[in-house]
Amino acid sequence: MKRTAVFPGSFDPFTIGHESIVRRSLSLFDEVVVAVGKNSTKATLYSLEQRVEWVKNIFQDEPRVSADLFDGLTVTYCKNKNLRFILRGLRTSGDFEFERGIATINRAMESDIETVFILSLPEHSAISSTIIREIVKSGGDASQFVPGAVKL
Ligand code: ADP
Repeated sequence: MKRTAVFPGSFDPFTIGHESIVRRSLSLFDEVVVAVGKNSTKATLYSLEQRVEWVKNIFQDEPRVSADLFDGLTVTYCKNKNLRFILRGLRTSGDFEFERGIATINRAMESDIETVFILSLPEHSAISSTIIREIVKSGGDASQFVPGAVKL
């Protein structure tokens, strides 16, 4: 059976840190679905359609990576699609504490779904979508932090 991971997130916008996690995960998984979530609590800068489109363009060269969007819980999405692995990236101990909570609750809800973590490259550990949005809103140039296909 194919090992397919879901990489869920807001990706507002998708960064070179996200791209690196996805590409590195291809040594573990046969396929990766980048699932752009409609987060009910977060107001996003970029539209859902724009974020999905970026993912498709970034991974045009990689047939093992696809883009999708979802609403609601990640575990519900996984269950509906019959997918057993959630991929997440870790930059800092702060990320770890946050992710540990989510992964523990996800596991309590769906014990057959495993969350797999990949540590960010040191040079990507300071890159966040939040900082990029702040740069963009202030009229700065954040292009070095996003893949070439992402036109901010
Ligand atoms: P969410 O809204 O779910 O936090 P994000 O789009 O912010 O989604 O991030 C999606 C995933 O990518 C998370 O696991 C996050 O920790 C990880 N991530 C974010 N930025 C980076 C980065 N620079 N390097 C590696 N992983 C990252």
